[in-house]
This record gives sequence, structure tokens and C-alpha cells, in this order.
Amino acid sequence: MSITSNYRQILKNIPNNITLVAVSKTKPVEEIKELYDAGHKIFGENKVQELIQKYNSLPKDIEWHMVGHLQRNKVKYIAPFVHMIHGVDSFKLLTEIDKQAEKNNRKQKCLLQVHIAQEETKFGFSHDELTEALTSGEINTLKHVEICGLMGMASFTENTEQIRAEFRFLSNYFHTLKEKYFKNSITFKELSMGMSDDYAIAIEEGSTMVRIGSSIFGQRYYPNCTNE
Ligand SMILES: *Cc1c(COP(=O)(O)O)cnc(C)c1O
Repeated sequence: MSITSNYRQILKNIPNNITLVAVSKTKPVEEIKELYDAGHKIFGENKVQELIQKYNSLPKDIEWHMVGHLQRNKVKYIAPFVHMIHGVDSFKLLTEIDKQAEKNNRKQKCLLQVHIAQEETKFGFSHDELTEALTSGEINTLKHVEICGLMGMASFTENTEQIRAEFRFLSNYFHTLKEKYFKNSITFKELSMGMSDDYAIAIEEGSTMVRIGSSIFGQRYYPNCTNE
């Protein structure tokens, strides 16, 4: 199967009001260009350096999404161009994004990442941390970030009922926050959940944005490291 035919197949599986972020991490620019030529303009990366290299060598109308964990000291490198940052998992990081967005005269779209998986290793705000950050009102002092919604990753498990429960939790939490803190916000509307193995469940549970890599580009190979 070619990348383009994988892509077309995925498009058939998802309703057209759902945003598909094609996660191109570790894949060469030629493969991204193939999808770009097929009409796709929204790509996701999880490493700052790789994102910058790809941004520099590909057409400028691509919407780049930073989907991975972002270190505060690296925000400045992507702040001039990144379309949306999915992995905002602390108020400190959000403050840094605000500062760099201001320097670039931009308003930066962000998603707040919530920890929903059982694994310790997945990043994200805990329920309590996020509630605290929101009730304190501090978030409203940041004028150069636009909070567009939430992002989450389910546990890495075969247990689809568990995955469903985690997505359902996030979806309920999203609606609760919207009602409580973002009632007048027109931007708080995205729920980024669902990857190659679980996007169908995520969509059933209310996802508005799926991040799909290997089902489009094929398996990833990591020659020198074992972790993603
Ligand atoms: C790699 C990655 C994806 C895509 O994963 P696939 O299983 O290949 O679809 C989605 N979201 C994040 C945060 C990722 O790091």
C-alpha cells in the first residue's frame, strides 16, 4: 500500500468534520511531500529539531502541529511558525509559550494535555493540577495564547474497554471545563484524541482531531533509540 492510498482509506474512515493530523515523525520530507501533493496540509511532529528542519524544507502553507512533549527552553525555536501545540502540560510551559508568541506578534493555539492513561510515563496535567490552574484565573492573564481545547493519550493496551473509558473521561472533562471556564470562548472546541490503533474509539467518544502516523506512513524505525 502506498502512503497516498493509506491516507485515502483513513479519510474514508473518519467523518469530514474531524481534523486529521498526519503524524510524520521520523519520516523523510519526500513522504510528506507525497501527501502534500495529494492535498493534505496538516502534519504533526514530536521533536523540535525535526520539526524545524521539515518546516524549512517544505511548502510554507503546511500547518505544523507539535504533538509531543515540549521543553520550555525549546519553545522559542518553533514559536515563529507552529500552528498548534498539543502537549501543553504545565502552567510554566504555557507562560513560556505566551512570552515567545508575544515576541513573534502571534497568538499561539494550544491544547492542554490531560493525563488519562494508566502509565506513569505519559505526560499531562493531572485533573487536580488543571482544575487549580483554571480556578486561579491565571490562564486569563496570558494574552498571547489561545486555549483551543484538550489533548490526551490513552493507555497502551489491547483492552479496548479501558481505552474507551479513558477517552470518555477526557470527553466528559472537556465538556465540564467548557461549561465552567470557557463558556464564552469560541476557541475552546477541540478534543485531540485518537491515534492509529484507537482513533475509531476516540471518534465514537467525541474526538474532533485525530493524530495518525503509522497507519498512513507505515511503521517507524528508530535505529539508535528504543523510546519514542
Ligand atoms: C507518534 C504520535 C502519534 C501517532 O502515533 P501512531 O500510532 O503512529 O498513529 C500521535 N500522537 C502523538 C503524541 C505521537 O507522539
